Amino acid sequence: MALRITDACINCGACEPECPNNAIYEGGVDWRFSEGTTLKTTTPQPPYVEDIFYIVTDKCTECVGFHDEPQCAAVCPVDCCVLDLAHTETEEELWNKKRFLHES
Ligand code: SF4
Ligand code: SF4
Repeated sequence: MALRITDACINCGACEPECPNNAIYEGGVDWRFSEGTTLKTTTPQPPYVEDIFYIVTDKCTECVGFHDEPQCAAVCPVDCCVLDLAHTETEEELWNKKRFLHES
Protein backbone atom coordinates (compact mmCIF):
# COMPACT_ATOMS: atom_id res chain seq x y z
CA MET A 1 0.00 0.00 0.00
CA ALA A 2 1.05 3.59 -0.30
CA LEU A 3 2.22 5.61 2.64
CA ARG A 4 0.76 8.84 3.91
CA ILE A 5 2.04 11.67 6.06
CA THR A 6 0.15 12.51 9.23
CA ASP A 7 -0.44 15.97 10.62
CA ALA A 8 2.46 15.41 13.02
CA CYS A 9 4.77 16.45 10.12
CA ILE A 10 7.13 19.26 11.14
CA ASN A 11 8.00 20.22 7.53
CA CYS A 12 11.68 19.36 7.91
CA GLY A 13 11.93 18.20 4.27
CA ALA A 14 14.15 15.19 5.05
CA CYS A 15 11.90 12.70 3.29
CA GLU A 16 11.47 14.46 -0.05
CA PRO A 17 14.91 13.76 -1.61
CA GLU A 18 14.87 10.13 -0.43
CA CYS A 19 11.85 9.05 -2.47
CA PRO A 20 12.80 7.02 -5.58
CA ASN A 21 9.51 7.91 -7.24
CA ASN A 22 9.41 11.61 -6.41
CA ALA A 23 6.10 10.94 -4.69
CA ILE A 24 6.64 13.41 -1.87
CA TYR A 25 5.77 17.07 -2.24
CA GLU A 26 5.78 20.12 -0.03
CA GLY A 27 2.38 21.36 1.05
CA GLY A 28 0.78 23.73 -1.44
CA VAL A 29 3.00 22.57 -4.33
CA ASP A 30 1.47 20.98 -7.46
CA TRP A 31 2.58 17.43 -8.34
CA ARG A 32 3.20 15.80 -11.73
CA PHE A 33 3.44 12.18 -12.90
CA SER A 34 6.49 13.09 -15.01
CA GLU A 35 8.62 14.21 -12.07
CA GLY A 36 11.07 11.47 -11.08
CA THR A 37 9.58 8.96 -13.54
CA THR A 38 9.67 8.11 -17.24
CA LEU A 39 6.05 9.17 -17.70
CA LYS A 40 5.31 12.01 -20.09
CA THR A 41 2.29 13.46 -18.30
CA THR A 42 3.36 16.92 -17.18
CA THR A 43 -0.10 18.24 -16.30
CA PRO A 44 0.13 19.84 -12.86
CA GLN A 45 -2.11 18.20 -10.28
CA PRO A 46 -3.38 20.09 -7.24
CA PRO A 47 -1.72 19.52 -3.88
CA TYR A 48 -3.41 17.22 -1.38
CA VAL A 49 -2.77 19.68 1.45
CA GLU A 50 -1.42 23.19 1.89
CA ASP A 51 0.50 23.16 5.14
CA ILE A 52 2.50 19.92 5.47
CA PHE A 53 4.36 17.57 3.13
CA TYR A 54 2.24 14.95 1.38
CA ILE A 55 2.68 11.66 -0.51
CA VAL A 56 0.99 11.14 -3.88
CA THR A 57 -0.81 7.81 -3.61
CA ASP A 58 -0.47 7.02 -7.31
CA LYS A 59 3.32 7.52 -7.20
CA CYS A 60 4.17 5.73 -3.94
CA THR A 61 5.26 2.10 -4.30
CA GLU A 62 6.26 1.63 -0.67
CA CYS A 63 9.77 1.82 -2.23
CA VAL A 64 9.23 -1.57 -3.91
CA GLY A 65 11.78 -2.04 -6.67
CA PHE A 66 14.33 0.26 -5.03
CA HIS A 67 14.70 -0.34 -1.32
CA ASP A 68 13.85 -2.95 1.31
CA GLU A 69 11.87 -0.49 3.40
CA PRO A 70 10.05 2.81 2.89
CA GLN A 71 12.76 5.45 2.85
CA CYS A 72 10.51 8.30 3.96
CA ALA A 73 9.59 6.41 7.12
CA ALA A 74 13.24 5.53 7.71
CA VAL A 75 14.41 9.16 7.75
CA CYS A 76 11.41 10.94 9.26
CA PRO A 77 12.42 12.32 12.67
CA VAL A 78 8.89 12.26 14.05
CA ASP A 79 7.69 8.95 12.55
CA CYS A 80 4.78 10.50 10.72
CA CYS A 81 5.14 8.54 7.45
CA VAL A 82 2.72 5.68 7.97
CA LEU A 83 0.96 3.02 5.92
CA ASP A 84 -2.16 4.39 4.25
CA LEU A 85 -4.75 1.80 5.22
CA ALA A 86 -7.25 3.39 2.85
CA HIS A 87 -5.08 2.35 -0.11
CA THR A 88 -4.11 -1.28 0.33
CA GLU A 89 -2.16 -2.94 -2.49
CA THR A 90 -0.55 -6.34 -2.93
CA GLU A 91 3.16 -6.77 -3.57
CA GLU A 92 2.32 -7.57 -7.20
CA GLU A 93 0.27 -4.39 -7.54
CA LEU A 94 3.15 -2.35 -6.10
CA TRP A 95 5.55 -3.90 -8.62
CA ASN A 96 3.10 -3.11 -11.43
CA LYS A 97 2.91 0.49 -10.22
CA LYS A 98 6.71 0.69 -10.15
CA ARG A 99 6.89 -0.58 -13.75
CA PHE A 100 4.19 1.86 -14.83
CA LEU A 101 6.12 4.77 -13.32
CA HIS A 102 9.55 3.84 -14.65
CA GLU A 103 9.12 1.70 -17.73
CA SER A 104 6.23 3.36 -19.57
S1 SF4 B 1 7.40 4.76 0.75
FE1 SF4 B 1 9.07 5.10 -0.71
S2 SF4 B 1 7.98 5.46 -2.64
FE2 SF4 B 1 6.48 5.81 -1.01
S3 SF4 B 1 6.62 7.99 -0.57
FE3 SF4 B 1 7.97 6.93 0.88
S4 SF4 B 1 9.99 7.07 -0.10
FE4 SF4 B 1 8.44 7.46 -1.70
S1 SF4 C 1 10.62 13.73 7.13
FE1 SF4 C 1 8.71 13.59 8.31
S2 SF4 C 1 8.56 15.54 9.40
FE2 SF4 C 1 10.08 15.80 7.76
S3 SF4 C 1 8.87 16.64 6.02
FE3 SF4 C 1 8.95 14.42 5.78
S4 SF4 C 1 7.06 13.67 6.76
FE4 SF4 C 1 7.40 15.77 7.49
